Amino acid sequence: MAAWRLRRAGAALAASSAVAVALAASSASASEPSAAALDAARQRVAQPWVAPPPRDAQRAALAGSTSAEPLDVLVVGGGATGCGAALDAATRGLRVGLVEREDFSSGTSSRSTKLIHGGVRYLEKAVFNLDYGQLKLVFHALKERKQFYDLVAGRRLLHLSRYYSVDESVELFPTLAKNGHDRSLRGTVVYYDGQMNDSRLNVGLACTAAVVGAAVLNYAEVVSLIKDESGQRIIGARIRDTLSGKEFETFAKVVINAAGPFCDSVRKMANSNVVPMICPSSGVHIVLPDYYSPEGMGLIVPKTKDGRVVFMLPWLGRTVAGTTDSSTAITMLPEPHEDEIQFILDAISDYLNVQGIWPIAGATEGRGQALTALRLVDK
Ligand SMILES: Cc1cc2nc3c(=O)[nH]c(=O)nc-3n(C[C@H](O)[C@H](O)[C@H](O)COP(=O)(O)OP(=O)(O)OC[C@H]3O[C@@H](n4cnc5c(N)ncnc54)[C@H](O)[C@@H]3O)c2cc1C
Repeated sequence: MAAWRLRRAGAALAASSAVAVALAASSASASEPSAAALDAARQRVAQPWVAPPPRDAQRAALAGSTSAEPLDVLVVGGGATGCGAALDAATRGLRVGLVEREDFSSGTSSRSTKLIHGGVRYLEKAVFNLDYGQLKLVFHALKERKQFYDLVAGRRLLHLSRYYSVDESVELFPTLAKNGHDRSLRGTVVYYDGQMNDSRLNVGLACTAAVVGAAVLNYAEVVSLIKDESGQRIIGARIRDTLSGKEFETFAKVVINAAGPFCDSVRKMANSNVVPMICPSSGVHIVLPDYYSPEGMGLIVPKTKDGRVVFMLPWLGRTVAGTTDSSTAITMLPEPHEDEIQFILDAISDYLNVQGIWPIAGATEGRGQALTALRLVDK
């Protein structure tokens, strides 16, 4: 078992690392950002009282594009992936549009475990299954996290891991059980990882993209894609403003599909015969009272009864525990199931000396507040 110290990171001028699928190749240059474009972006962001342009201006910029004068990039989806891609493209000096059919971060990106991944989930598989792919993922995550941290943490970088004796561990983490059902505590390893406010980071990316020149519109849904006369190339999208109900067209050299779990529905707009490439699974977190975890420290159960990893982390004055991994239908608000909530409670109660663990009052048949997110798994 490992206890876990957390460092918080704020939203910053950083691009998301998640994968997006470009639907149409184009002549738009996607090379390294020019120093001048980056400088201009930094200067705009640094201005006091800087704010994104109003909704009407964003909408007009999207609707003002034509097939003769298209945007360089149109991003479909305003989660972390889409907003990160839009910001990245805008800081390269490209003309960018982004549309999100709900609010920014209303999908998976507001329901994560809030970790800036060091890849601990994948480390065990890498070592014990001798899985080189998982090991590469860990190194990749560590490299990305370091870059992100360098950017936001300055000198407050992460510390080295340390072993603590049983007594030290219980002093550090008072709810830790010295004796569990069929095991006793031998000590803990404390290691350091980063924590973020995922939805704020996402909204920060959207606002920063807008400030540096991208036309960014929420409550705007792509209802179909526009193709050129040959029917081969995607040149834009038809968009419905879901607040006014009005539709308009936006033209772009490249359309990026960043629709997360809804990725296949956008792919189908391009080709109705396309074979689905993703299968969704849901991950549930439950919210517990604050005293389950001391401030700034969490707990990782590295191996649950069925071999999964469960985290218990301090979050906004409470404790968040999770997650699960079950296949599900694709929906914007997946429902947590009773057995998933029980799975998390069982996993953490094995390690705690708190009697009768119940999540705080809220949804889900009176059992507590549970948050569910969708994750994508390559088939
Ligand atoms: C349980 C769980 C825990 C996780 N924990 C972590 C973690 O601790 N740390 C971490 O870094 N990552 C974590 N992740 C991964 C991370 O949350 C995801 O990689 C990320 O949120 C995916 O973002 P996205 O933008 O691709 O998808 P989403 O956030 O789902 O965004 C897709 C958006 O596209 C929009 N959209 C769909 N169709 C259309 C359309 N036609 N027109 C316009 N908009 C459309 C949707 O409304 C949605 O907002 C976790 C994931 C899960 C499931």
